[in-house]
Amino acid sequence: MHSERTFMSSPPAYQNLELLPIAGQWREGTSGRTLDVADPFTGATLLSLPLAGREDLDEAYRGAYDAQPEWAAMGPTARGDVMHRAVALFDARKDEITGWLVRESGSTRIKAEIEWGAARAITQEAASLPGRMHGRILPSDVPGKESRVYRQPLGVVGVISPWNFPLHLSARSVAPALALGNAVVVKPASDTPVSGGLLLARLFEEAGLPAGVLSVVVGAGSDIGDAFVEHPIPSFVSFTGSTAVGRNIGRLANSGEHLKHVALELGGNSPFVVLADADVEAAVDAAVVGKFLHQGQICMAINRIIVEAPLLEAFTQRFVERVKALPCGDPGKPETVIGPVINDRQLAGLKDKIARARKEGARVLLGGEPQGNVMPPHVFGDVTAEMGIAREEIFGPLVGIQSARDAEHALELANRSEYGLSSAVFTRDITRGVQFAQRLRAGMTHVNDMPVNDEANAPFGGEKNSGIGRFNGDWAIEEFTTDHWITVQSAPRAYPF
Ligand code: NAD
Repeated sequence: MHSERTFMSSPPAYQNLELLPIAGQWREGTSGRTLDVADPFTGATLLSLPLAGREDLDEAYRGAYDAQPEWAAMGPTARGDVMHRAVALFDARKDEITGWLVRESGSTRIKAEIEWGAARAITQEAASLPGRMHGRILPSDVPGKESRVYRQPLGVVGVISPWNFPLHLSARSVAPALALGNAVVVKPASDTPVSGGLLLARLFEEAGLPAGVLSVVVGAGSDIGDAFVEHPIPSFVSFTGSTAVGRNIGRLANSGEHLKHVALELGGNSPFVVLADADVEAAVDAAVVGKFLHQGQICMAINRIIVEAPLLEAFTQRFVERVKALPCGDPGKPETVIGPVINDRQLAGLKDKIARARKEGARVLLGGEPQGNVMPPHVFGDVTAEMGIAREEIFGPLVGIQSARDAEHALELANRSEYGLSSAVFTRDITRGVQFAQRLRAGMTHVNDMPVNDEANAPFGGEKNSGIGRFNGDWAIEEFTTDHWITVQSAPRAYPF
């Protein structure tokens, strides 16, 4: 049960969100540059934020380094308590948080609520992690030796997050990393500094996190991007974003003087497979949400619909009918399903993808002109695996439908991608669905559901160019801690010389 009943009314909204929490102080970034954060639907400036520079970054990392040992030394219950209080604040400040998600990232009300729930669930799960950080005692071949493995926090963790689910994708690294005794410095995306970092910092501070344990640096990639990764203090960088930038982060983390671990959660190209024995209506229901939630700007969003030939016509007709009726426009209205894409650059990229799909011979089954940053949903038929719209990550409200001769062909098409994040298969035969899923090269597959699924206790991550590492639950313990082998020789050892 949610703890919102413990609060009689919402606390006053956080103020001065243009200030950055750096090494325990709320202050302006000192790069000399200012970022205007815009509402992607109205274009209005939400706030002007002085950006962090190299010195701010250095101070944030040093502050984290100094604050971490004392935080880690606090018992598991004390660290868990901070997480529990943060969960209560998620509840008390729900309207404030979802309001920022709508205004800053163009989230519809539906998506903002889902994202708030995911970030809350991850913080709740994080509250249990300090007590699950188990060491081990191993058998030893050496007489008189006790061989122990201590599980320890990594120290200082750097987190880089994208703009699409800013609150959730920052929280899924920040909350477990903190709970496990690390200090964290976050660099949110420039489109979403508030929901991707500053709100979390305010919330954890209010929940009792000691000063300096969590810093947020909002800065230009050109100023602090490389330095964020190359700085000697963080031993681990948790990056969520595009494959191109992720590759660069991986290179930087291991190119210089310092060798660092990285978790890379990157792009996707989820196949949605409808086998000939599927329930068409159920498949259409899943496909509509799995493609168009948050305007398709989700790494797990359906990127390719692959339908076995006997169902192609029935599926396509029903899908187009349903998509045509989706309300587009103001994300603040509760009924809106398709709101704005994040910025002009993304919109231009989508226009380019539409033009290329037409040129390559895809048939437009549904289209339309954008209104401001709101791109109406586009559905293409006669799509082949060679077309750009099938090969590339779309990250917008466009989708192509491919026809498969049979289930083997569907599997071959589904696997024909450089990515391997999420995936889905529809069939009335569950055993067949699971066997199909096992042959898909992906980190996640959902039988008779959409590919967009993330639960705080289940392993989230991808194969191939979709990344390295897993989030959530036990997997977060693996990511955000390290093992230290310590032995104790309690009887004299017989050395060979
Ligand atoms: P992006 O790679 O452009 O940016 C991600 C983050 O990296 C941002 O905070 C950005 O400011 C920062 N960044 C950019 N260049 C940098 C540099 N040189 N050094 C350091 N930091 C740098 O991605 P995006 O456009 O924000 O997000 C969309 C992409 O993210 C899509 O490809 C999507 O699939 C992917 N994504 C993946 C997951 C996942 O869990 N696998 C989740 C969400 C989004």
